[in-house]
Amino acid sequence: MTHFHEEPDLQAISTNTELVNQYIIRNTRTKFIFVTGGVISSLGKGVAGASLGALLKSKGFKVSMQKLDPYLNTDAGTMNPQQHGEVYVTDDGAETDMDLGHYERFLDVHLPQNSCFTSGYIYTQVIQKERKGKYYEGETIQIVPHITEEIKHYILRQTYGPAPPDVVIVEIGGTVGDIEGLPFCEAVHELRRQLHKSRSIGIHLTYVPYLESSGETKTKPTQHSVKELRAVGLQPDIIICRCQKEVAPDSKRKIAKSCGIMDNCVFTSPDVDTIYELPAHFRDQSLVEKVCQLLKLGKGAPVNIAPLTQFTASLSKLKKKVKIFVIGKYVDQNKTKGAQAREKDENKKAQIYRESYKSVHEALCHAGVKLNSQVEIVYLESSELNGANAAQKLADCGGALIPGGFGQRGTAELISVIQYLRESQIPFFGICLGLQLAVIEFARHVLKIRGVNSEEFNPKCRKAKKNVIYLMESWYEYREGKLAIRDEDTEKGGTMRLGLKPCLLTPKTKAYDVYRGVYDRANRRAEEAFRYLEVPLGESELVFPKAINNLDPQSLKATEAEIATRKLMTIYERHRHRYEINPQFHELLTTPREGQDHFVISGEAPKFKVGDSPEPPRIAEIMELKRHPWFVGCQFHPEFLSRPLRPHPLFLGFIEAALKFQERAKPQLESVAAGEKAPAAPRTEP
Ligand code: GLN
Repeated sequence: MTHFHEEPDLQAISTNTELVNQYIIRNTRTKFIFVTGGVISSLGKGVAGASLGALLKSKGFKVSMQKLDPYLNTDAGTMNPQQHGEVYVTDDGAETDMDLGHYERFLDVHLPQNSCFTSGYIYTQVIQKERKGKYYEGETIQIVPHITEEIKHYILRQTYGPAPPDVVIVEIGGTVGDIEGLPFCEAVHELRRQLHKSRSIGIHLTYVPYLESSGETKTKPTQHSVKELRAVGLQPDIIICRCQKEVAPDSKRKIAKSCGIMDNCVFTSPDVDTIYELPAHFRDQSLVEKVCQLLKLGKGAPVNIAPLTQFTASLSKLKKKVKIFVIGKYVDQNKTKGAQAREKDENKKAQIYRESYKSVHEALCHAGVKLNSQVEIVYLESSELNGANAAQKLADCGGALIPGGFGQRGTAELISVIQYLRESQIPFFGICLGLQLAVIEFARHVLKIRGVNSEEFNPKCRKAKKNVIYLMESWYEYREGKLAIRDEDTEKGGTMRLGLKPCLLTPKTKAYDVYRGVYDRANRRAEEAFRYLEVPLGESELVFPKAINNLDPQSLKATEAEIATRKLMTIYERHRHRYEINPQFHELLTTPREGQDHFVISGEAPKFKVGDSPEPPRIAEIMELKRHPWFVGCQFHPEFLSRPLRPHPLFLGFIEAALKFQERAKPQLESVAAGEKAPAAPRTEP
């Protein structure tokens, strides 16, 4: 038997996907765990799968994870986070489901693009092949076999490469029985039939409700859900019961019997205070040992999730507290009436925010734990704020964060809040849109340039040369080793500046210091911070070395020389933006002026030049105010690289500044909150 050590030349094997799939199955050894969900949605399949993945990884197995999303969007990029949660971005620039964030945080890996695909993507692939003609040779294109073979193909692509995983955990999105999910179930059913018996198992996550009135756990919904699963040809090997109350052995036996599985294959996933506790619950039930036995994986090393358990244990012992406001714009404004309905609205709002800004939420907590602080995160909708009430609403905050976002709605209010934060010297952290709004605010209120705006909110500001934030028309695309060219007519899906890109840090800036970890040598955080200096390729595809090889050696030399002379430091961060700070304004923004603060560009994309094409414009990646205690914005999304045990330096810096501010400013802010001397209401242009 031959094994793939690099991507096989599939074209050379055949243009028939079915044959190619058979060939891959024969030539690879990777095993599969297929995770389905039943009864209700939002059971936490992603977290359950990731917890199992973390346990398998701790046993020394090489684990990869994949999410199959049944909706018809080509990817998550164009979806509103209100409906589907945060859009997560991978190193190689895929815009994916938020579950990939769980996978990466729990397994501490960097997943590649192929780790998430949608029905829409699969259909597009099939239709494109049909148009090309050579693939289907006049056949009638059907769900079975064409769509199902394509799905199988994308699952099987996880199994080759220089270091193929021992196990791939594949999560099928949605709930069993959904019409949309049927092609995925059918494909998995076929694939399981083709794989050798010990090469795949099915795990079904189901809801087992507890009826308070009768004091019983109810197994019937699970029985029905497994019936549905069997109807599409999928027999589970393991059932995990999502439950509020521990499921009694009797009920577990009942589930096992009625669902045709062994008694010792029913496990539970109880409600937990923090999702990071789940791996320990599974460890205590020996779930991973059962999985290893069924997949004939061998024993592996003993489970060791000590770092994660230390993290969860420390959560209850945090000595300090800091309040951080996250001010976003992802909640419907149509408020329902009535107190009860309003309370529901509030809960729903908090839930939507947590999901829309999942990685930001997690990154704040990770940094808090490192600094022995419980971060109380308060979500505010931009429409709830205005220049006049900002002081009151943010009275007891340690700092405020404005995360990424799209579209004009709510931006005028956000700009007023930023003005208040800047003038009151309150720590501010702007991510992507947050940075862009901070720059607009500064240009309007400090530089007094009337009418400056982002082309995203007012395209006319371009003609008037007031476009302090402009549409990026060209940039160096490191992954492909060429220039990316865009204009306002470019279609929206997948065309932003996406994924991991290098950024050169400027010495003697706050950003530089936090990445170096020098801002607090006493706590010896340097070591963790330094890890960000490496290219975090992890187990994902090689993105940079490939791209850098494609570069004109002359331009690379120039960059290296520049790095050496200016003692710059390179970091790599994930991006997702279409607009950028207009380089024409860099000088104005960064010129020191008497009695005024000014911006410093503390991180910049390296200058690359490809062939004879003109050098692409400069890209400011991190901007900070020189005199403000912490007014830092970044064009990338640092939240995607934060891990429970390795918080992101910028989040650490922000929380640290917030803790300091809270200590110092609390008495003054309390008096402002009590209405003694509210600062003048900042005004802003719409
Ligand atoms: N809408 C802005 C842009 O496209 C900001 C994007 C973001 O916050 N991710 O550049």
